[in-house]
Amino acid sequence: MKKLAFYIAATFLAVTSYAQQAVVYDGARLILGDGSAAIESGAFVVQNGHITAIGRAIAAPAGATRVNLAGKTVMPAMINVHVHIGYEKYTSWGANNYTPENLLDHLQREAFYGTAATQSVGSSPLEASLHFQRDQQAGKFPPASRFLFIPGYAPPNGGPDEVLREATNALHAINEVSTAGEARASIRKMAGVGIKAVKIWVDDRRGTYPKMTPEVYNAMIDEAHKHGMLVHAHATTLADQKAVVWAGADVLVHLVQGQKLDDEYLALLKEKKPYWATVISLGDATAVCEHDPFFEQAMPATVIAKIRATTQRRPLAPSCGPPAPNAAAREAVIQYNFPRMIAAGARIVLGTDTGIEPGHTFGSGEHVEMARWVQLGLTPSQAITAATQRPAELLGLKDMGTLAVSKRADFVVLDANPLDDIRNTRRISSVYLDGAKFDREALLARWKKADAVR
Ligand SMILES: [Zn+2]
Repeated sequence: MKKLAFYIAATFLAVTSYAQQAVVYDGARLILGDGSAAIESGAFVVQNGHITAIGRAIAAPAGATRVNLAGKTVMPAMINVHVHIGYEKYTSWGANNYTPENLLDHLQREAFYGTAATQSVGSSPLEASLHFQRDQQAGKFPPASRFLFIPGYAPPNGGPDEVLREATNALHAINEVSTAGEARASIRKMAGVGIKAVKIWVDDRRGTYPKMTPEVYNAMIDEAHKHGMLVHAHATTLADQKAVVWAGADVLVHLVQGQKLDDEYLALLKEKKPYWATVISLGDATAVCEHDPFFEQAMPATVIAKIRATTQRRPLAPSCGPPAPNAAAREAVIQYNFPRMIAAGARIVLGTDTGIEPGHTFGSGEHVEMARWVQLGLTPSQAITAATQRPAELLGLKDMGTLAVSKRADFVVLDANPLDDIRNTRRISSVYLDGAKFDREALLARWKKADAVR
């Protein structure tokens, strides 16, 4: 503990002194994150952690340091609106791991892979999360992805899948509501402590779980909107997605994989234009099966070995077995539904569901999710906007999400152009948070060391 405190103080000093002076980054291709054409050989100035000038040609302030990024591409750091942080520890998984140190570890992993803000959805206990957030905003921790969270709601014994359910039970992290009155009272309490959004689970897990009733979620959405709060809704069937969008849910989580969407739903999407966190790629562990070092570098050898040894496919759990018998049919439905959701106006945002079960590393899933979108029809530029500008807009992070004057200098320097191939977002040269270079090498060394001890 003493050692951690020292490390924190030392890092914080280094960061603040570095960030004060103006730095000019020039020569790189700049992808702004807003969907506009990239600026070739552009430049930008960073001072006090913020971008103060950006463009094709800019006037450098006197005495500024210059960083030559010729041949590189710069994009805004990503923003992930949907993870389940705190339970994973790579040697064990569960409520006992939910400590500030472990939250910080997950957020550093997110930063390592280029994510500047990470939102834990539904599974983070209220008091501990508020506390952590205050401490992080007060600068008590070393640099990491910025932590956000939203509380989750389900009927008693409902909500997340059984693995996450068991872990969250121990912390009483899920808010259980049975009636419209309970739902409204709880939302008012959340509004009182400054909560800006909540998550609801509307899912009976193929008849094995109690499902939130329309009476309850209608009341919850209505009460949330009265307090200016947004509602994220987990729903996986066509009927349930239709019902929650109709009821006014602001953010959809998951895509319908078992049924083709109908005209009634597409018309509803056109009218409501909800945000949409697809979280499609979590179950695809093929990167580890294919020995991809981009993913393996953050994974303990024991976890890698376990994934490779797992040949039985199970939803959410990484494995290297043959595809599930229904995989091709499911993929065909996804290929049918995805472009129709987008064409109808669903506003796609980056989310990964990382941490929901053991064996997933934080931060790498973002790159898989973006590549999936492009495979399903988005352009790389659209995928980057959905991973940067749009999640910032959804989360109300006004100073994040794009490369523009007055935004925080949170950006990723890449060795190759992701507009040519979205998989080039994995060619990370460096990551900057608040204008300071994030020490990826130190993290890599720490992971290697931990792995040697294990
Ligand atoms: Zn989730």
